[in-house]
Amino acid sequence: MQIDATTSLFYIFSATCHKNFYDLANYDRLYMPFRINRNYLDTTGKLRSMQNLSIPKIIKYTCPDGSEINIHIKQSNRSKRVTLKLIQGEFVAVVPSSITEFDLRRTIKSCSDWIDEHHFIAIQQLREREIPSEIAIPLEGIVYKISTSTDLKQAYQDIRTAPLGFLVQNDAQRIALVQKDNTICLYGDVNNIHLVAQALQDWGKRKGEELLPEFCRTLAKNGNFIIGRITVRDQRTRWGSCSRKGDGVCNISLNWRAVLLPEPLVRQLCHHEICHTMHMDHSPAFHALMQSLDVDSEALECGLNDASKNMPWWAHYSAI
Ligand SMILES: [Zn+2]
Repeated sequence: MQIDATTSLFYIFSATCHKNFYDLANYDRLYMPFRINRNYLDTTGKLRSMQNLSIPKIIKYTCPDGSEINIHIKQSNRSKRVTLKLIQGEFVAVVPSSITEFDLRRTIKSCSDWIDEHHFIAIQQLREREIPSEIAIPLEGIVYKISTSTDLKQAYQDIRTAPLGFLVQNDAQRIALVQKDNTICLYGDVNNIHLVAQALQDWGKRKGEELLPEFCRTLAKNGNFIIGRITVRDQRTRWGSCSRKGDGVCNISLNWRAVLLPEPLVRQLCHHEICHTMHMDHSPAFHALMQSLDVDSEALECGLNDASKNMPWWAHYSAI
């Protein structure tokens, strides 16, 4: 929703406007109060940068009730401090690449109060992860029923005649997704919730690519807006964005998850990005233009801002 600092420097020739997807309420997190020093003195007294130290991918933590939980460790070159997050029932620590295992364990220990407090929320979040019974794609007007089977062999037969089918796998486990008529069949290791989420996301991305650009282009054409490319992307923090390049043409990118939204909200998102081709900001002129396309635009904009909270768990599930 704001022009970020890097692109605003080139505002006249090149600009980008983002429509935010997530707000911070979507997950709980704790920032460590201190920064990790990325540099150290080597044995000769030279200042060196510590990069990508080898640390465990998972650290076990024992709660006061004796239960053991996994804390997934993600190294990040950009992060300067440890951030502990609870995401969809999993604890994740994002840590600087330069942190040592000793410092990491010590840091995690220092936030035991926060972990203990959030342990019960995590259990609740994990319970809520169930395979959905149906998925609605409002732009198509179809509600797809979901069926599951552990018989992967059946999938190999069905996949030949189905209009859409693919395999996702992780180590030795695999799930085949086959769409036939208005049913999505999941075959194989359907108890592996990571694979279920991955398969449904892949399916959702294909639906997004199939439906969103055409829908957006039709709206642009009806309003006599000139737009360049429309791409469908897996954006973690935005519903969409509009960028103007040096040649003056505006390209639009849309989050595939928009395909799960009610049609009026998808329309609002597309109108929002299309209107940025005329106004690369959120000025009164921009809002007036949106209003001229849809008198309900203000209410719809609020609905769109809230919509990420109602996304199903599998749509924003990220493999840890
Ligand atoms: Zn915007």
